[in-house]
Amino acid sequence: MATAARTTQICRNFINGQWVESRSGKTMERRNPANLDEVVAVVPLSTREEVREAIAAAKAAFPAWRDTPTPVRGKIIGKAAALLTEQKEEVARILTHEEGKIYKESLVEVQRAINIVEFMAGEGRRLGGQTLPSEMPNTFAYTIKQPLGVVGAITPWNFPVAIPFWKAAPALVTGNTMVMKPAEITPLTALKMAEIFAQAGLPPGVLNIVLGAGEDVGDELVQHPDVHAISFTGSNEVGGIIYAAGARKMKKCQCEMGGKNPLVILSDADLKLAVESAASGAFGSSGQRCTATSRVVVEEKIADQFVSMLVARAKEFTTGDGFDENVAVGPLVDENQIETVMRYLEIGKREAKLLLGGGRVTGGMHDRGLFISPTIFDHVKWDSTIAQEEIFGPVLSVIRVPDFEEALRVANSVKYGLSSSIYTNDSAKIHAFIDRIESGMTHVNSGTVWSEAHLPFGGMKGTGIGLREMGSIAVDFYTELKSVYIDYGARKQ
Ligand code: ADP
Repeated sequence: MATAARTTQICRNFINGQWVESRSGKTMERRNPANLDEVVAVVPLSTREEVREAIAAAKAAFPAWRDTPTPVRGKIIGKAAALLTEQKEEVARILTHEEGKIYKESLVEVQRAINIVEFMAGEGRRLGGQTLPSEMPNTFAYTIKQPLGVVGAITPWNFPVAIPFWKAAPALVTGNTMVMKPAEITPLTALKMAEIFAQAGLPPGVLNIVLGAGEDVGDELVQHPDVHAISFTGSNEVGGIIYAAGARKMKKCQCEMGGKNPLVILSDADLKLAVESAASGAFGSSGQRCTATSRVVVEEKIADQFVSMLVARAKEFTTGDGFDENVAVGPLVDENQIETVMRYLEIGKREAKLLLGGGRVTGGMHDRGLFISPTIFDHVKWDSTIAQEEIFGPVLSVIRVPDFEEALRVANSVKYGLSSSIYTNDSAKIHAFIDRIESGMTHVNSGTVWSEAHLPFGGMKGTGIGLREMGSIAVDFYTELKSVYIDYGARKQ
């Protein structure tokens, strides 16, 4: 059984290459969600003035970093990937201790971060523009990509390793400097990232981390005139605030928000595969991921069989401490999440038929932590609250439909559009689904949660606004495109 260092960490900001104690005098405690008796970290709630200091440091570091050749910047990012690989288990332990997800999933998250950082290191040698023909004689026309300057990142708690890395790596390799505000409740993983980049040789001021509340630290980043872009991942409510504020300031914004991802199962599907995918997609990471499978849309013909197999499989998902190898579902991240999920469970009991779970897990170690039992609702109406709103807990809604056309309509009936999946071997329906499903990522005979570092990540409709993250396109958000026309004058000779 892997374990974490059980000492309480007193967190400091990382500004201009230094670990600096906040002057605010205000702090909050972060407790282990699997055992609330344990204080994992004491987190400063920094002031706006401290954010301005970090922005000033990032601004001062920009000219030299911008002038560092892109392949050299890529080498530093590559070194960070190597260091993260060396420290994979340690980072995964911090993650499980701080956020709660099971250790096996923490290792997968860290590996995902490694993949992204490795890919972005390679962008240091690939970053290029286009050479295009000119209408004019003797004219050379091309485009170049240039950094924006100081950029801001505001990150959530649910992937506190992968998301900070996937925002920092493309921003830095393209020559920007960054100030990041991680979620208040997951500071340690972001600070570890800063440490790794510093070990990799990133110059002081290029990456700064300021801990604190969204309304102060986050808002200061959004409002400050020297921050040229904001990359945000989090709730729709906050994304809307940031996007509106960014628009008023003419700032580039990228907001990646919620999901209500459907897994469509047609009558010819391999049910064993579909059940596995539905259960792990719904209950993995305690359902606290934007790509979680939250709706199964299943053809009526096979619904009874599917549901009985699903319930049997779901009963095998034991909840508990993420460091326990026998545990499949860790705690929810904090009391706010418990409150939200419990509210939806009560709504669900009124709206649909509860088949499994439906409340907190109690007894023994569970009494010290924040555990919700894997929950399945059947006969959920497509337009009910639990079928439309993001719950962010281990809760799965089964919606029964007569045929493929209705499945597609139901799948598209939500305001979100992040991920989706279909289980069938009917090639005509597969292609129709790919063509018409309203989601930024889609899967055929695989679950909704998987994504790879070199493919764009993001959603359409209410899920995402601004350019996609990951993949080569990630660098486009962090760069300006300049068109160049050179009249080399040969025609005058
Ligand atoms: P979650 O429910 O995942 O915590 P939030 O959208 O509340 O999602 O938070 C995501 C990130 O946005 C966090 O780092 C949070 O502190 C930050 N944040 C919250 N409110 C604001 C705000 N008004 N301005 C800027 N950042 C904010």
